[in-house]
Amino acid sequence: MSNHFQDNDKIMDHFFNPRNLGTMKNPDAFGQVGNPRCGDIMHIYLKIDNDIIKDIKFQTYGCAVAIASTSILTEMVKGKTLSETQKISSQRIREALGKMPAYKQHCTVLAEQALKKAIEDYQKEKNA
Ligand SMILES: [Zn+2]
Repeated sequence: MSNHFQDNDKIMDHFFNPRNLGTMKNPDAFGQVGNPRCGDIMHIYLKIDNDIIKDIKFQTYGCAVAIASTSILTEMVKGKTLSETQKISSQRIREALGKMPAYKQHCTVLAEQALKKAIEDYQKEKNA
């Protein structure tokens, strides 16, 4: 089997049909991260009620793996509590997406960071 991410049907499905793509008006939390290595930029918007992620939207400007990582992440966290989402690591994203070359793994880390950043900002504001 080839190690090209273009041969990974799951990555290609999320790349061509991203889930929860878009922006959100008045989000409860917003996270933004950038990756200087391949230029990926991710925005994550959250609607949070009673510590549950009620809705999530994302915009990712970048490579196919970055888009697929954010897309699959939105499916993994929707309806979860904030403490449950803390357990969603980039490794879990990679397991969900399947085989990808090592040089693309940092794109999954970026998705984890974007979500964490949004939740951190939300908790900071709540406790301020
Ligand atoms: Zn990338």
